[in-house]
Amino acid sequence: MNCIFGIDIGGTEIKIGKFYQEHLVLKTSIKTNVSDGGNHIFSDIFLKIDELTQNDTAEGIGIGVPGPVVNGVVLGAQNLNWKRIEAQRILKERYPNCEIAVLNDANSAALGEMDQGGAKKYQNFVFMTIGTGIGGGIVINGQLVEGATGSSGEIGHIRVAFGNERQCTCGLYDCIEQYASATGIVKTGNQLRQGRDTVLNRIEVTSKNIFDQAKLGDEVCLEVVAQMIEKLATATAAIANIINPEAILIGGGVSKAGGFLLTRLQKRFRELAFYSVRDTEFRLAELGNDAGIYGDGFAVRKKIYGN
Ligand SMILES: [Zn+2]
Repeated sequence: MNCIFGIDIGGTEIKIGKFYQEHLVLKTSIKTNVSDGGNHIFSDIFLKIDELTQNDTAEGIGIGVPGPVVNGVVLGAQNLNWKRIEAQRILKERYPNCEIAVLNDANSAALGEMDQGGAKKYQNFVFMTIGTGIGGGIVINGQLVEGATGSSGEIGHIRVAFGNERQCTCGLYDCIEQYASATGIVKTGNQLRQGRDTVLNRIEVTSKNIFDQAKLGDEVCLEVVAQMIEKLATATAAIANIINPEAILIGGGVSKAGGFLLTRLQKRFRELAFYSVRDTEFRLAELGNDAGIYGDGFAVRKKIYGN
């Protein structure tokens, strides 16, 4: 049978999904070997694809990478030790009969959610993934917006404070990632617990614990969540004012806080957004860590079969 691969290349793990049409029929993963400037990554993937196509014919390969992508060229991916990599060309040389798609991983997760997850009913939405960092993808009229240098949807690096308090991994200061990601939430938790009577002085300070304890009413944890919400509502209101999406979809590890997070975020968003975008819907993503492989598969399926 003809099959399609959706491959999500992360810093520690490469997730591989095999699809018959839109149906995910097999899911596996291999370790990411980032030694030698990430030179082994493609050969490792080739081995796996060849193993998984012994009784099938691959007709498309979509890959998602943690870095900006323009016309099939990855401009750089720190987590993979990649500088500029001509991913599309490398894949096409090895699999000349396959359609190839190369995407930024957050963009591909947005497409996955549109195809088979929480954004199925939307053609215009913003996807935010909130984990150790914050990434995003923007879909307008059913099409991914990639931008001049593949950097549309780099939501995590919107500035939301002005005191140069927290330096970001990108080199800038006070990016929202430093306040509203899991890492940022922990930073705020560690600041606010000092000298206070809070459970945070007795348990490990993690984003999950902070949300769990906020739900139970710990005052300091509630403050941490409120500060996180304030930054996130500020950024999402700005984004909505520019794009006027139907919905904002929240995924990533932090989104496991669920309705507790979403209700508070939406309430504050409504106070901060321009009146005509106030009714933007807020939804939780549904595909979790698999969103990327679905999106990579979707992107290449679209290249082969059209819409
Ligand atoms: Zn940044």
